[in-house]
Amino acid sequence: MIDLQAYLNKQRAFFRAGKTKSIDYRIRQLKKLKKILVDNEQLLIDEVHKDFRKSAFETYVTEIGLVITDINFAIKNVESWAKQKPVSTPIVNFPSKNFIITEPYGNALIIAPWNYPILLALQPLVGAIAAGNTAILKPSELTPNTSAALEQLISDSFDEEFLKVILGSAEEASALVKMDFDFIFFTGSTRVGKIIMRDAAERLTPLTLELGGKSPCIVDKSANLEVSAKRIAWGKFVNGGQTCVAPDYVLVEKSVKKEFLECIKASIIQLYGDEPEQSPDFPRIISDAHFERLSGLLGEGKIITGGQTNPQTRYIAPTVIDEISLDDPVMEDEIFGPILPVLGYESIDECVSIINDRPRPLALYVFTSDQEIENHIMKFISFGGGAVNDTIAQLGNHHLSFGGVGASGFGSYHGKASFDCFSHQKSVMKKPFWPDVPIRYAPYDDLKLNLVKKVLK
Ligand code: NAD
Repeated sequence: MIDLQAYLNKQRAFFRAGKTKSIDYRIRQLKKLKKILVDNEQLLIDEVHKDFRKSAFETYVTEIGLVITDINFAIKNVESWAKQKPVSTPIVNFPSKNFIITEPYGNALIIAPWNYPILLALQPLVGAIAAGNTAILKPSELTPNTSAALEQLISDSFDEEFLKVILGSAEEASALVKMDFDFIFFTGSTRVGKIIMRDAAERLTPLTLELGGKSPCIVDKSANLEVSAKRIAWGKFVNGGQTCVAPDYVLVEKSVKKEFLECIKASIIQLYGDEPEQSPDFPRIISDAHFERLSGLLGEGKIITGGQTNPQTRYIAPTVIDEISLDDPVMEDEIFGPILPVLGYESIDECVSIINDRPRPLALYVFTSDQEIENHIMKFISFGGGAVNDTIAQLGNHHLSFGGVGASGFGSYHGKASFDCFSHQKSVMKKPFWPDVPIRYAPYDDLKLNLVKKVLK
């Protein structure tokens, strides 16, 4: 294996030299990153297409474009984000000035998954750079073409003591996690997230875990079913269903279930035609192992539409399944593919219980025109983030931070949250030498105690 420690040593020396503390330096690096994306847009689109046949439109809209917007936002705001922030002074510390200095953690490690190979590698990197860290980035081995392109483009533009891409698999990633980084940002599965957290605990390395899980989608009877079905179908089948925040399953009120199923069937035809295998817009499954796993789920319930597969090209049709029970295997783990189980519910309380009986989801979507239903869901279900009457599109707003809760991870990023994620807040109090208020010093007496009680009551 390559000498990973040598790269970290170089980055550590570079960070200590203080160059990344300069806001101008950070802005120059962010501009470089943007230039890579702008100058190599077609190359990157082609490499992602080679990896899993994702369309140019989806690669631009769900990856390149989102990173560029985040970079623009960071360039515009990093100076104010990084400013020392004064806070007020309580009477016990009078007279003094109190302030918070935001400082970079130092040497950051970013480990990315395969499913949005540009976005999930580079969007955390925007935060790392804006906050003044150096970074080592380990993209996924399952998108070899995109990961190699990122490695090449980044090594052509950046000094490796500031930013280095390490290609490799679990072995390299695991070795990196055991090294002395100051911060780890991991996006991936809950299984690997647990391993990373155990390794990070050995060194007490702070970390963010962006994990997955089963994100539910609720359709209430007051919803506009046609529009709901279209937005759910888009969010489910974009990227071939391989999206961490895709609706994993739908819970629809029983009285409108039949109509909803008709609507979603029609939406799939609208999106991908009668033969989705021929559509240039529908991606393939990333690997044989994932193809096998997903194909195994197709035997459950009653297929309403889809169900066709092609192992040669790893094609699985956009599939909707009815007559699923909560104990079926498709309801156990995150599906992470183009298979959508639809289950009915009688009352909103039953719906809330179904979700709350499971690990807390990364995303939740509710389709309703009933304000009380919306309020009830927001009040009684904990989830990472989500949308009312839409799916996934909330990620297009960099004012909304993004992250999980419970089993779907912790920590958040996007926009300013990315800067905060990669920063430590250093709280400082500054006092003049005079006056030196004597009350806190021993010897103590009742008079002092009574005075303190009056102040602190
Ligand atoms: P994964 O956990 O298998 O791999 C992610 C990364 O971890 C890869 O770069 C891999 O090389 C590395 N890795 C594997 N084993 C490791 C180990 N022992 N130690 C350190 N690193 C290791 O995930 P994946 O299959 O690439 O991605 C799919 C999963 O990611 C899904 O569960 C999905 O929900 C989740 N995901 C979450 C988000 C989010 O933002 N919350 C986004 C996308 C994907």
